[in-house]
Amino acid sequence: MKHDKILMAHGGGGQLTDSLIHDHILSRLGNEALSPLGDSALLSVGREKICFSTDSFVVKPLFFNGGDIGKLAVCGTVNDLAVAGAMPMALSLALIMEEGLEIAVLDRVLESIAATAKACGVSVVTGDTKTVEKGAADKLFINTAGIGLYPSGLNLGMDQIKAGDRILISGTIGDHGMTIMSEREEIRFQSPLASDCAPLNGLIQGLLDQCPGIRFMRDPTRGGVAATLNEISRATGLNVAIQEDAVPVTLTVRAAADMLGFDVLNIANEGKVVIVVDQAEAGACLKACQDHALGRQASIIGQVVKADSAPVVELVTKIGGKRIVQMPYGRELPRIC
Ligand code: MG
Repeated sequence: MKHDKILMAHGGGGQLTDSLIHDHILSRLGNEALSPLGDSALLSVGREKICFSTDSFVVKPLFFNGGDIGKLAVCGTVNDLAVAGAMPMALSLALIMEEGLEIAVLDRVLESIAATAKACGVSVVTGDTKTVEKGAADKLFINTAGIGLYPSGLNLGMDQIKAGDRILISGTIGDHGMTIMSEREEIRFQSPLASDCAPLNGLIQGLLDQCPGIRFMRDPTRGGVAATLNEISRATGLNVAIQEDAVPVTLTVRAAADMLGFDVLNIANEGKVVIVVDQAEAGACLKACQDHALGRQASIIGQVVKADSAPVVELVTKIGGKRIVQMPYGRELPRIC
């Protein structure tokens, strides 16, 4: 379908985001570093390789249970570097502020940025501030970019994925998206929802040290696990088969998703990583994940299998039925990050 105006769904991380990127951006700007559409671009600088990534944050509300726009802005870019295999080194920070934004609110966000950057072991080394008139933005938008060192000898990528590989998720899914949505809709549950927003570089560094069989990683943010698995299936030409009862979901997230009519597989996460690992190392990788505070509820959720026809993501339901997991369309949850 052709659109002559940008819709909210163009920013949702699903099919429309995908067509925006391919038909409008890559067709004009595509190059060797950009076109693979990794979480980070891999660049050679002399003998070294670095990763470079950027992300903008427009989450509404600015503060939510488990995080805020500042924590999200640091974790988002740090995680995009980390899942690409890089050790995050330095960040940029750009603030777009609406006229009338309270300085106390800005200070609170900056305190959170400072604390999160410290926890990740990165510094903000360059930045920018812009103001726009009232109504031209909603309080505060943030952009961060980051660079990280890519270790020599590491070779991660979707092109490394083989039939038989196992798929791990580092913990429960849907926590971030359902928290934002329920706060925005002012829906309360008996046990509170909390965003999983967290920096993954420590967990991932440990995994890379212990599991040389890791082929590929991605943080399932916008579009959720469904988008990540569809990207894997499409890029490799292989099927992805997952077992519904192996996917960790808290009872509250499950209840919230059912009530609001969402598929948890489509919901954004901000502190989880999907890992594709050699079958022979899947158990060791799971154990290494569960040994880390951010990976306690890690689970092997499925495997990569040879496709007989067009590659698909298939879910085996709790009662043994099968359904295709589609690439989400993108209108599910606006301004989630
Ligand atoms: Mg990412």
